Amino acid sequence: MSIALVTGGNRGIGLEVCRQLARNGHEVILGSRDVAKGRAVAGGLRVVELDVADDSSVRRAAGEIGALDVLVNNAAILYDTWARAETADLDEVHTALETNLFGAWRTTQAFLPHLRRSAHSRVVNVSSESGSLGGMSGGTPAYSVSKAGLNALTRLLAAELRPHGILVNAICPGWTDTDMGQGGRPVEQGAASVVWAVELPDDGPTGGFFRDGRPLEW
Ligand code: NDP
Repeated sequence: MSIALVTGGNRGIGLEVCRQLARNGHEVILGSRDVAKGRAVAGGLRVVELDVADDSSVRRAAGEIGALDVLVNNAAILYDTWARAETADLDEVHTALETNLFGAWRTTQAFLPHLRRSAHSRVVNVSSESGSLGGMSGGTPAYSVSKAGLNALTRLLAAELRPHGILVNAICPGWTDTDMGQGGRPVEQGAASVVWAVELPDDGPTGGFFRDGRPLEW
């Protein structure tokens, strides 16, 4: 069983991923940018203060966590439903990229020294089918571009880290009933899609994009 860090673990899919992993016997570290919010829901799990948009916060968390096998880059913001690419507020787009893309990127970089020391290392980027290039036809421009970027990052990291035995995959949890995806499927189902990628065998896929264990189009 592995030591797993989940960013944005204080609510929504991230919290449910923490709970499922703990139930399956993993040692879970719940990352929360507001440590009080994290502690309020942790139910005995270890909580680490971690704001993925803040370099010093990420570096501090990496220093505090001695060892890690699994990083779940789950934290994200800004499902900009009503925006259009032609008129999008670029400050807002910048903010989305800072968390959804650079947040995952800087967190992965910071924790790679730990992950490289693990024999069963996984990076799971919680993405979205909104980031699929083939399906992009308008709507949620900031969010979609951030997830397309995260998918590209997934491919690059998977290729670079394959020789180290680190599996890197992008996962879409599906439309899930959280603050972000109100009215979607139960959070247990969305989280299970993510947990599947954490628990892949060592000879499992890397550099893929999946939902419910099935491949998605990039
Ligand atoms: P929620 O909005 O419910 O939760 C988002 C989580 O991310 C919160 O814990 C939030 O913390 C955290 N977060 C936001 N910014 C930061 C930051 N800078 N540093 C650390 N944590 C941060 O979203 P979901 O649970 O629905 O989404 C989880 C993942 O699943 C996301 O990557 C999302 O894009 C993806 N996804 C969700 C879908 C859905 O339908 N719900 C569909 C497809 C993909 P705080 O409480 O402090 O704000």
